[in-house]
Amino acid sequence: MPVIHRFKLSPGKKIGLTALLTGLVSLSIVLTVTILLVASYQSKKKSLIDTTLTLNYSSASKMSQMINSLFISMRSSLRYSASVVIDHPSQTQKEADEHLDILRKSSNYFNSLTVVDENGIIRTVSPASIGTVGQHIITKEGNYALELKKPYISLPYISARSNRHILFMSEPIYDKEGKYRGFIGGTIYLQEHNIMNMIFGSAATDTTGSSFSIVGSNGQLLFHPDEQLIGKDLKSNPVVRKLMAGRSGHEQMASIQGGQLLAGYAPVAENGWGVMVTSPIEFVYNELHSQVRLMLVYLLPPSLLLLLIVIKLAHTLARPFVQLADLMSKMGSEKVELPQNRHHWNREADLLTKAFRNAAKKIKRKTDRLTHEATTDALTGLANRRSVENLLQQWLRENKSFSILLLDIDRFKHVNDTFGHPVGDEVLKLFAQIMTTSVRKSDVCGRFGGEEFIALLGGASSEDAFSIAEKIRCSMENSVTPTGQTITVSIGIVSSTRQLHSVPALIELADQALYQAKQSGRNRVVVAQTAQPKNRLDS
Ligand code: GH3
Ligand code: MG
Ligand code: MG
Repeated sequence: MPVIHRFKLSPGKKIGLTALLTGLVSLSIVLTVTILLVASYQSKKKSLIDTTLTLNYSSASKMSQMINSLFISMRSSLRYSASVVIDHPSQTQKEADEHLDILRKSSNYFNSLTVVDENGIIRTVSPASIGTVGQHIITKEGNYALELKKPYISLPYISARSNRHILFMSEPIYDKEGKYRGFIGGTIYLQEHNIMNMIFGSAATDTTGSSFSIVGSNGQLLFHPDEQLIGKDLKSNPVVRKLMAGRSGHEQMASIQGGQLLAGYAPVAENGWGVMVTSPIEFVYNELHSQVRLMLVYLLPPSLLLLLIVIKLAHTLARPFVQLADLMSKMGSEKVELPQNRHHWNREADLLTKAFRNAAKKIKRKTDRLTHEATTDALTGLANRRSVENLLQQWLRENKSFSILLLDIDRFKHVNDTFGHPVGDEVLKLFAQIMTTSVRKSDVCGRFGGEEFIALLGGASSEDAFSIAEKIRCSMENSVTPTGQTITVSIGIVSSTRQLHSVPALIELADQALYQAKQSGRNRVVVAQTAQPKNRLDS
């Protein structure tokens, strides 16, 4: 036999239906909301990260194309400037300076322009304030360009003269005979106002937190919204290494300032630079958190409404059960009003209410019948001895004034003997009827035993009692009985007094009066003398 473990609550810890339903619904709401939030958080996180990466990649690609075009333009600008310089060999120093100034300012590509002859002597410089005209070039990059005699773009370096982060581009100058005449060099001051931050400055950071940066072919940072970082070596960064290898793509990477970045990157074909567009992952999380908060704001009111509806429903659901339990506990101890015969919307409550009502009706019918049987005499339908004595006891307790009639049919044995027991019964029924029709409405008639009856007359004096007794006696004497013969009754009367405060004493006295009525010839009424009962009865 398997052992069945039943779940039992200790008597003090019963869960109410309302609490149970509210708890269950709260739990399901919390679970649903949590699942909903977690699922949407995860899917949104993935899609936001993917979207940001794709967007950054497409921005990086566009930027790299722009830089490519810009770079081509810068180079052709330098080439044009070189051709202009060689076309005016006889101009004065002032004219040459002004000419170069115009060339520099017309494109704004370079922060400075320098014309160097084939001997490495600086011929013209713009702006003239640099003041290096006539001097021999000293930078490693300048000397390299002079030697190279070809277009050249330097890696970023720090100028010994001005301590600036500089990028240097140059175009060789050849005369008509094809003789090398030096070069024209342009510089970009990386940490100052320059062509790159002029064009890309606005795109450096946007509202989505994306920032834009350029690395040189050696992995050095050429452009970054934070100017302090320009010149920093980023070779160790895996994305920068991919750019240096000429690859493009998007991925999550560690930021040099700490934290994680979502990066899109693309190389610039013309010069080997790389463009990175990055967004801090915090922006994605911030966006996610604000979306979760928004979802909570949308979910909270309907959840609360649902909870309120459930509490209300649970209350209405629990009410009939509680009412029935209350009625059941009252049954047997006080008068119970049966629940209304109306249908309950809940099937179980409806079934239980109907079952209870039917059971209660049956119990009531049975109880009424038992009560009736316990308090009435089966033959005559009058109150039985016990209920009469109980009522008498109550009247005594209440100090009520009353009179008692004790009635005994005369020579009843003779009736039985002569006409048989059933006829005797009919006589008893007839007498009961005469009694009830003769007394007042408020009086109580009872069968005391055999052919002996009793009537309790509330508030009746002995005179009142006497006249009622006489009425019964006469009525019986004059009735046509089932025997066809006259049957009489003897009656003893006793009235309540202060001296008599027990039922047996009262009955005893009434019995003595009755006895006296029998003794003195029957078919008469005798009132017990309660003041000196013994003397009067004895006399
Ligand atoms: P008395 O005038 O002195 O009262 O004489 P009595 O014959 O009426 O008195 P007794 O006490 O000698 O007889 C009473 C009879 O009542 C005896 C009994 O058989 C009869 N009796 C008692 N209960 C019933 C009953 O329920 N039905 C019938 N038919 N007879 C009953
Ligand atoms: Mg008798
Ligand atoms: Mg009798």
